[in-house]
Amino acid sequence: MQATSTRGTRKPIPKLVQVQVFEKDRWLCRWCLRPVVFPPAMRLLQHFVSAAGHKRPLAFHHPNWRRDLSPLLDELGASVDHVHPHARGGTNDPENLATICAKCNVRKGSLPADEHLRRYKRVPVKGKHGEPQRWDGLASVFVTLLDANPSLATASEKAWANALKHAWTTPDYCDAKVAGGHSAGHLS
Ligand SMILES: [Zn+2]
Repeated sequence: MQATSTRGTRKPIPKLVQVQVFEKDRWLCRWCLRPVVFPPAMRLLQHFVSAAGHKRPLAFHHPNWRRDLSPLLDELGASVDHVHPHARGGTNDPENLATICAKCNVRKGSLPADEHLRRYKRVPVKGKHGEPQRWDGLASVFVTLLDANPSLATASEKAWANALKHAWTTPDYCDAKVAGGHSAGHLS
């Protein structure tokens, strides 16, 4: 399907493609270079820590990434962004998709990439070890917990786990073709 024919329809990007974008960007926000977090991992972590008897409010996860109830996701929850905005005719080709943190997603909106970077300049952290190079967004934690407790998984989480495992064993993910449009909501 041509991306232009889906303009405005907001079909979700397939989970496998989203995961491939995260892996390609090494789970770092393309715009601010901060590490992003895979939201379903936070749901599972909250579940297990609560089930273990911890009574204090955890605020690991909220479905809407509410700032008061899931502050980490409000800052660093992972999404897939159109580099050239969908609202301005940006395509769904993999090269137009990038990992974006929740904070940059709010700021960037439908701004073109160069305008976003002009308004929100990257400020490198001074330190002898430099910027983050990669991490995994807690995706491996998610898969590990889910594999150990398959009955706990929602259909969506099973699909995420399958997508992650596929991406980890398929190195040529950059060749994946995008069939859908932009994912309008938060990862669930
Ligand atoms: Zn960011």
